[in-house]
Amino acid sequence: MKLDVNALRYLSKDDFRVLTAVEMGMRNHEIVPAELVDRIAGLKHGGTYKVLRNLLKNKLVHHDATKYDGYRLTYLGYDFLAIKTLVNRGVFASVGRQIGVGKESDIFEVATEDGTVLAMKLHRLGRTSFRAVKSKRDYLAHRRSFNWLYLSRLAALKEFAFMKALGDHGFPVPTAVDCNRHCVIMSLVQGYPLVQVKELQNPDDVFDTILGLVVRLAEHGLIHCDFNEFNIMIDDDEKVTMIDFPQMVSVKHRNAQMFFDRDIECIYKFFRKRFHLSSEKCEEQDGSDIDDDENSRPSFLSIQKAAGSLDKELAASGFTRKEQVEMDKYIDQNAEEESSDDDSTSEQDNEDGDDVAVKIGSLKIAEQDSAEVPDCTLASKDSNEPETFAKE
Ligand code: ADP
Ligand code: MG
Repeated sequence: MKLDVNALRYLSKDDFRVLTAVEMGMRNHEIVPAELVDRIAGLKHGGTYKVLRNLLKNKLVHHDATKYDGYRLTYLGYDFLAIKTLVNRGVFASVGRQIGVGKESDIFEVATEDGTVLAMKLHRLGRTSFRAVKSKRDYLAHRRSFNWLYLSRLAALKEFAFMKALGDHGFPVPTAVDCNRHCVIMSLVQGYPLVQVKELQNPDDVFDTILGLVVRLAEHGLIHCDFNEFNIMIDDDEKVTMIDFPQMVSVKHRNAQMFFDRDIECIYKFFRKRFHLSSEKCEEQDGSDIDDDENSRPSFLSIQKAAGSLDKELAASGFTRKEQVEMDKYIDQNAEEESSDDDSTSEQDNEDGDDVAVKIGSLKIAEQDSAEVPDCTLASKDSNEPETFAKE
């Protein structure tokens, strides 16, 4: 699957104007009345309607005439707006192959004008579980301007802010380069997700490093909440990089202890199974309920008491308190869905070491209601050549 950015090159100024008008209308409408799009775009002689037909043909907007004649952006349309903005800013000049499919994201390589390759993460909230979507709608029902693009934008903003703050504090994370709409640009991590690694030279050392990261994060006031073999990258020198931050919470969160323990448990479980963790380390785990013992697993309560806080830096990098609250609601809802869902698509539930690599690319994607969840069908392309396009 490849993001076909070719169409982007053939889109005119008017096309972008109308696409942007649909985006603006979506602040207040799930489906934007065609008349409103026309009014915002302000094209002469009914030009908007002609352009809308072209956008529809290119799957950049979705037409909905159930209640009235209206349009909404598709994820593809949203992708193009973000890509166009970032290209115009000079952040990158071409989009290459897809390098990752996450639970709620697609990751592509992009290249700058001087040839540096970066990673582009496009957030796609709402695509994993339609049941979760339904319950999320309930809590967001009061929001006039609720839509999936908005939540994806929040996720990107949060991920960017956290990545930046963590990098500034010396955590091994990708370098946060830029962010627009639902799109985060970061450095490309050389290496593989730990889930794909069958053997390590020094599994005990890697284990200590990873566990140390969970503890150090908590000491800074944060819990990753999805810390597992899918979100830890490792290179040929067995250097570890953490990725994937939209679900992080503060150590003050009401479920903090549970999230912290779950992160730690995931690491233990994976290392025991895949790398046959040394018996010494397994014993350390068995001492887990006697906390604060030197040989036991890290005790959350003692860390929590002494924890610092990254809140200030995060607010400064653009992720405000209000946005934090909205994301937290989404995360809470997701956590509840996952824990009550036997047939979960959660990465955390995956215990079988041998077919996991396959599962990355084939995580179950539940049914979507096209009227409610923007589709994210990407045109497929045969060529592996990056598509380059010009600034405007
Ligand atoms: P999701 O939130 O959807 O789980 P992730 O951020 O975990 O998305 O990314 C999904 C996959 O994409 C990762 O497992 C990894 O293989 C790849 N990936 C993500 N970020 C990078 C990066 N900066 N460099 C290289 N590969 C990456
Ligand atoms: Mg992930």
